[in-house]
Amino acid sequence: MRNLENIKKVVIKVGTSTLTYANGNLNLVKMENIVRQISDLHNRGLEVILVTSGAIGTGASALGYKERPKTIPEKQACAAVGQVTLIHMYQKLFSEYNKVSAQILMTREDIRDRKRYLNGRNTFFTLLDIGAIPIVNENDALVVDEIKFGDNDSLSAMVSSFVDADLLIILSDIDGLYDSNPKENKDAKIIDYVETITKEIEGYAGGAGSKLGTGGMITKLHAAKICCSSGVSMIICNGASNDSIIRAVNGENVGTYFQGKVKPMKGRQHWLAYEAAPKASIIVDLGAEKALKNHKSLLPKGIVSIEGKFDEGDVVSILGVDGNRIGHGISSYNSKDLSSIIGVETKKIEEILGYKHYDEIIHINNMVIF
Ligand code: GLU
Repeated sequence: MRNLENIKKVVIKVGTSTLTYANGNLNLVKMENIVRQISDLHNRGLEVILVTSGAIGTGASALGYKERPKTIPEKQACAAVGQVTLIHMYQKLFSEYNKVSAQILMTREDIRDRKRYLNGRNTFFTLLDIGAIPIVNENDALVVDEIKFGDNDSLSAMVSSFVDADLLIILSDIDGLYDSNPKENKDAKIIDYVETITKEIEGYAGGAGSKLGTGGMITKLHAAKICCSSGVSMIICNGASNDSIIRAVNGENVGTYFQGKVKPMKGRQHWLAYEAAPKASIIVDLGAEKALKNHKSLLPKGIVSIEGKFDEGDVVSILGVDGNRIGHGISSYNSKDLSSIIGVETKKIEEILGYKHYDEIIHINNMVIF
């Protein structure tokens, strides 16, 4: 059963393949349709946020590229050109429906850094309070590769969790998640409802994606995981028809519906799990792995090695000896000092370092285990 009766805040994600023709030019009819449906939802009293792709494609076509550019500087230049066209067109269309739109260009850093995270939420909440429709894209013109969201499926899921949305609708060029590749198997069936993302469901995402956008079905499933764990339900449906958003919000059986968890991860836990994006790792032995999974803090004794540099208070990945990701946590010690106390008993910390902040390297309260 799709549970959409009490939704108040909806995020709509539109991909490049829905928004543009194969030559990169904007498909104005589709764009107008999307804006009209969003404006209608807004008229109903819903809060709506639009996450849109299409900057690079639109810029490339405006600059006369025959195909999508491959180098990063060219992509960034195209994004800078295309984003203006994109937002100009949205603003023009939204104003026809008497709506005020606002542009927000995000980077991963805005979510990774706790202060910026809280500040960004306030910006969104204020815009929604005053009745504006935020239009979000990644800040492609400036952001460097290693801190990119990379695809707008992930971005839209992060935004949905960030603003405590009730529902994310991802408009795609396929009808939803199939149980096998519909291009190869004519008996492939669309999955209507997903309660939990099991291994079986993840297996379905393998071959059924579109090749046009950045993200295929795999990135959409990743987006679903982010959403569901933070209590946001998600629908993947085809953006080709001119009423798919309205039908999805009305609870009709369009596309695939993923049920958000009734008991979602709390804000800080979710931030640690999905938004903080650690750059360094602590590798722990089997005994520590077991203890962590039994809700114990991480002590120096269970640490085998560390990878990368970090400061006290930074988020790190916790890996098992075979490289499996056990969780994320906030380290109480910097990597330099921690490297001197690897494997030692807690009582030796002060003797070795000349100080002791805590017995725990990562306290259970500062940790999320997957
Ligand atoms: N942010 C990119 C753009 O506007 C799109 C990324 C994606 O396709 O997922 O072109």
